[in-house]
Amino acid sequence: MLQEIVEAEKQSIVQTYKRAPILWERGHGVFLIDSEGQEFLDMAAGIAVNALGYEHPAITGILRNPGLLHISNLYYTRPQVALAQALTENSFASKVFFCNSGTEANEGALKFARKTAGEKREIVAFSDSFHGRTMGALACTANARYREPFEPLIGGVRFATYNDLDSVNLDGDVAAVIVEPIQGEGGVRPAQKDFLQGLRRLCDARGALLIFDEVQCGLGRTGKLWAYEEYGVEPDIMTLAKPLGGGLPIGAILINDKVAAALEPGDHGSTFGGGPLVTRVAKSVLDTINQPAFLAHIQEMGQQLGAILHRMVQKFDFVQEARGQGLMWGLALDEKVPVAKVVEAGYAQKIVMLSSGRNTLRLLPPLTLEAQHLEIFEKRLEVALALA
Ligand code: PLP
Repeated sequence: MLQEIVEAEKQSIVQTYKRAPILWERGHGVFLIDSEGQEFLDMAAGIAVNALGYEHPAITGILRNPGLLHISNLYYTRPQVALAQALTENSFASKVFFCNSGTEANEGALKFARKTAGEKREIVAFSDSFHGRTMGALACTANARYREPFEPLIGGVRFATYNDLDSVNLDGDVAAVIVEPIQGEGGVRPAQKDFLQGLRRLCDARGALLIFDEVQCGLGRTGKLWAYEEYGVEPDIMTLAKPLGGGLPIGAILINDKVAAALEPGDHGSTFGGGPLVTRVAKSVLDTINQPAFLAHIQEMGQQLGAILHRMVQKFDFVQEARGQGLMWGLALDEKVPVAKVVEAGYAQKIVMLSSGRNTLRLLPPLTLEAQHLEIFEKRLEVALALA
């Protein structure tokens, strides 16, 4: 069965993905079931999307009675406005624009920044950043392997070094700085507090906008609703996507008054953006995560996950460092053991994990994970690392 699908995929799907040889059939809670009925502990959550795991009643309850699916942005719907209100009431932002993915959210953020900045055009992005695969977001993504085959990308983007304020020069006509408070694809690297605070100061001094890309690290992932809360710094623009729709596609651009004042009808648009079904689901996901007890649970599980990973640093020579926050963690490996081998060894132990950066194992479990799951994880991870 698996082999048939692998062959059919090769024949019919554009070959841009390297897939693991697993055919998923369904999921429940924090577990995934493959075509042979084997149960895996999910420590990846569909790359930080399935924040509430699988078959969570906050989502399935709506999907059983979906109501209006789509009507376009030519009209009003209650769910879209309700989600926007919930996002603005619980963040720095005063207005929201809805789109359908992370890269689209960043694309819109760049447009909004340039419109607000008037004549200024330049964007400063950072080493090891990942902002998406469309031409504007890709222009702000550091990895040369992703960028070079498609150049010229949008112009006016220059790079500075992540966590190095001295490398940031906002001279000239810089419209905005775009940064992930915790880099995800770049190897799970949290920004230092001084760095984000310094960026805010520099942007204010130079009249540049500060864009936080919280597509991966936002919405509870760090144990706070927004990653920026940990830093005492607010952006002018923040982008969201991955977990917001609980598995349905949605992106959002959150903006402050200054940016909102620069935008007018016709500046941006999306046929699907903020449809009634996906915004109903997203509001339910946001309401579920944005509870003090739920956020406290993420913090507690995050501490336990961090402790497990620090024990692995002690146990295995090739495991160099554990870094992260909340339920977003990376385990940096030295070059002796390729992370792909550890991910593969994890599948054999029935755990689903991710790689990121140069050689870092990445863990982004559903936020609903419990202590008993972490016990299972520790045992299986230890075997996977020993066998890799
Ligand atoms: N920004 C960040 C920080 C991401 O991690 C990602 C995806 O990994 C993106 C943007 C792009 O999101 P999408 O794949 O939904 O376009």
